[in-house]
Amino acid sequence: MMNLILLGPPGAGKGTQAKIIAANHGLIQLSTGDMLRAAVEAGSPVGRKAKAVMDRGELVPDEIVVEIISARLDGADCKGGVILDGFPRTLAQAAALDRVLKRKKLKLDAVIELKVNDDQLVERIAGRFTCATCGAGYHDRFRQPKTAGTCDVCGGKTFLRRPDDTAETVGRRLLVYYRETSPLLGYYYCKGNLRSVDGMGSVEDVGAAIEAHLPRR
Ligand code: AMP
Repeated sequence: MMNLILLGPPGAGKGTQAKIIAANHGLIQLSTGDMLRAAVEAGSPVGRKAKAVMDRGELVPDEIVVEIISARLDGADCKGGVILDGFPRTLAQAAALDRVLKRKKLKLDAVIELKVNDDQLVERIAGRFTCATCGAGYHDRFRQPKTAGTCDVCGGKTFLRRPDDTAETVGRRLLVYYRETSPLLGYYYCKGNLRSVDGMGSVEDVGAAIEAHLPRR
C-alpha cells in the first residue's frame, strides 16, 4: 500500500508511467485530467465550467479539482493506495491535499518528478493520439500502431487527439506548468518526499528508474 504523486510538465509521460506503476503495484490511478475530460464528455455542471479553460490550456479552479480528488479518495478501491497524476498542480492544491490526507489518515509515500527537456515535451504532445476504445497511447513519430489504423491492444479503429494538444496550447500549458506547478518541486523537496527521475529515455527505462525510487515494502 502506498500513495504516490507523479509530478512533471505536460508530455513528460505521467499518464503512461502512472498506468504502469498502478498495474504493477495494484494502485488506483487518479488523473484529474481524465476525470475532467469525462465530466466534459458527460456535459455535467463541472464539465461545462471546465471545458473552455481546458481548451485554452489554463487551470481549472482549485476548489473544483480538490473536491473531485477528495471525493474520489473516499472510494473503497483507493484503500490499497493511489497514484495521483496531474494533481496537485498549484501550491494551494498541494496544501489542500495535505489537509485531505491528514483528515483521511492517509500518508504520502513519495513524489516522483519526471524530468524532460522542453523541446522534447512539445514534440511529444503535438504528435500524440489514443485509441478511442481502450485508451492505449500512440504517437505519429515515436509509436505508430503496428498495423496502420488499428489499435495494437484492442483492435479498435477509431483514434482521438486531445483538443488541447495543439502547438499553440502546448506553449500555454508549459508556461502554466512553470508558473503554477513547478514551485511544488521545492515544496515536496523541503518535505523530504521528492524523487527526481530522468524522463528522457524509453518508457521501459523511465519505468525502471521510477521503480528504483519507490519505497521498499
Ligand atoms: P492533463 O490531462 O493532466 O494534461 O490535464 C488537462 C487539463 O485539465 C489541464 O490543462 C487543466 O486545464 C485541467 N486540469 C487537470 N488537472 C488539473 C488540476 N490539478 N488543477 C487544475 N486544472 C487541472
